[in-house]
Amino acid sequence: MRILRQGEPQLKERARPVDSSAEDVSGLVADLAETMYDANGVGLAATQCGVMKRVVVFDTSEERNELHAVVNPEVVTVCDEIEAQEEGCLSVPDVRIFIERPCHVHVRGENAAGQPVEYEADELLARVLQHEIDHLDGILIVDRASKAERRRAIRQQREAAHARAGLPLEEPKGFGEAAPGTRGL
Ligand code: ZN
Repeated sequence: MRILRQGEPQLKERARPVDSSAEDVSGLVADLAETMYDANGVGLAATQCGVMKRVVVFDTSEERNELHAVVNPEVVTVCDEIEAQEEGCLSVPDVRIFIERPCHVHVRGENAAGQPVEYEADELLARVLQHEIDHLDGILIVDRASKAERRRAIRQQREAAHARAGLPLEEPKGFGEAAPGTRGL
């Protein structure tokens, strides 16, 4: 599947719930998983591929062999503690910016077979779940970012475009170099 990029209108739309008793999403889940692994991503929402259904896949394991799919994921509770961490997004290439999110979330949904699943998540998994559920609501990291981080995103995109074109940078590198080696969502 093709991963949509920032600026494509479907990324701004809300996905609709899946009726698991009437719809088989196993094919969609397999396609999303393949697309996510091909892009070396940690997570992918169906909306990122233009499918407006509430389905996300993720794999936060180092070995890349623990695929999870959640249909109709819902955040039930979040903790009060908020943490800012750098995030990237497969739909917003070349950008890594700090996003504030609750450290811990309780998420409920269904698996690809329609059975109920629950996640008590913190650290990376909490972040991935919130990031992917945001996608289902048409929200991108740049929509969640502070003004300063949004400006930083624009600068990162401009620098990457210049680098690809083999041009020198217009201005010195900005503050806060992106942490290397973190995968996209
Ligand atoms: Zn994303």
